Amino acid sequence: MKKGIHPEYYKKAVVRCACGNEFIVGSTLPEIKVEVCSKCHPFYTGEQRILDTSGRVEKFMKKYADYYKKLQLKEKKS
Ligand SMILES: [Zn+2]
Repeated sequence: MKKGIHPEYYKKAVVRCACGNEFIVGSTLPEIKVEVCSKCHPFYTGEQRILDTSGRVEKFMKKYADYYKKLQLKEKKS
């Protein structure tokens, strides 16, 4: 390998997931943080679950809460 052009390679870089899982990989970074891994991703767990890391579902619910209330009231009347 040519010297001075390759970043340092960490054979035992630690990957930390938001679910608490940790595993070792080879990387040029000593530590990596991820939001989802093979232990908690719905594809691997077989679970039907929404991954809401940025609060998008909450935002949507807030935005449409009034709309749904009005809708339900309308339905009750008719
Ligand atoms: Zn995970």
